[in-house]
Amino acid sequence: MKCYDHPERDAVGICSLCGKGVCEEDAVYINGKLYCKACAKKVLTGKNKKLYRSRRNSSICGVCGGLAEYADVDATLIRVLWVIVTLLTGIIPGIIIYFIMCVIMPKEPKE
Ligand SMILES: [Zn+2]
Ligand SMILES: [Zn+2]
Repeated sequence: MKCYDHPERDAVGICSLCGKGVCEEDAVYINGKLYCKACAKKVLTGKNKKLYRSRRNSSICGVCGGLAEYADVDATLIRVLWVIVTLLTGIIPGIIIYFIMCVIMPKEPKE
């Protein structure tokens, strides 16, 4: 396996995002995963953000906390909005949607 950008160099691994060979000089480790320089930038700037249930911002399932981390806003704001929407829609739909999201959204991986 050779580096994608430097065909003369041997790759030390494969980028977790694009799957291209990465040489020692291009290799960037983020949370124990190997990325090429271009993908590392994407990961660090959050373009590859995933929606997870939050471990840090968790009151029931971490759904609101996860949405807040994804949208980069305060988790309290999402909770307040959720409560308002839930009350306005007759409570039941809000609760059902919460638990559906609770089941569908993966839990944030441990750091
Ligand atoms: Zn890559
Ligand atoms: Zn290289």
